[in-house]
Amino acid sequence: MALDERWCQGQSGGMSGCQIVECLEEDGVVKFASRLADGARIESVILPIRGRTTVCVSSQVGCGRGCVFCATGALGFGRNLSPEEIVWQVQAARERQECRVDNIVFMGMGEPLDNLDSVVQAIRVMADPHGLDIAYRYITVSTAGHADGIRALGAFNLTNLRLAVSVNAAEDTLRDRLMPINRQYPLARLKAELLAFPKGKRGVILIEYVLLAGVNDSREQALQLARYVDGLPVRINVIAFNGASGSGFSAPAPEQVRRFCGWLVEEKLFVRERRSRGQGVLAACGMLGVGRLP
Ligand code: SF4
Repeated sequence: MALDERWCQGQSGGMSGCQIVECLEEDGVVKFASRLADGARIESVILPIRGRTTVCVSSQVGCGRGCVFCATGALGFGRNLSPEEIVWQVQAARERQECRVDNIVFMGMGEPLDNLDSVVQAIRVMADPHGLDIAYRYITVSTAGHADGIRALGAFNLTNLRLAVSVNAAEDTLRDRLMPINRQYPLARLKAELLAFPKGKRGVILIEYVLLAGVNDSREQALQLARYVDGLPVRINVIAFNGASGSGFSAPAPEQVRRFCGWLVEEKLFVRERRSRGQGVLAACGMLGVGRLP
């Protein structure tokens, strides 16, 4: 791990008033924390993947959705970020890497569709040739299943914008428990909006499934997931829980992760086991906001 003092101390945000206050790097993954003009703190992550640079941005200070396995959810809701504060995270990452940013994912702190207007405004700046010039197809909005937000986002006609949905359970009783947003937008309502969402050229929705040992990793639950996505053009990312939130959940054994993926493949689904990189710097999925960096 190495702290990049020059970059951490040298970045401040011009109009946005943001400033990098801490950063940490491990295995090429960089997590940086920023202090906003009002003193609020957010975190963002830079992920180099196969020669391309992905930046994971936050859309809120904390999050009010309270998913029980998520460290950000445990922080509660602070406030929405402005478009400038969202775009600034990408700018800061670009200066750090001294190269262009190829992909942007809204998978940092917050439920992006709870801050739709700012997120859409930020996306437009990111995609504009006079802005960051990153095509919509390289920008992914990830939601916990905000059905009204998915419909509203679709209506903006941001052609080829990519949508990811964190599903984690394909049966309402369990999903109600893991992700309280499901009580507002049950699975059937969510699926109706996913079917209606404009898919763009690639025509695929990314389904994220965080595997929690003994909770949602059985064969029956894999089959439930397969039935749920039937009729939807999807790619499924299976991510082993990173075990960092102190939530009482634990990571499944690697062989169980492989078995779960195999059951989905048997159902003819396109599945990727996604390794959660950056755990040593608390930058992995569900770890933002876990604590201050050393
Ligand atoms: S998983 Fe996403 S929506 Fe759920 S609490 Fe965490 S940041 Fe919020």
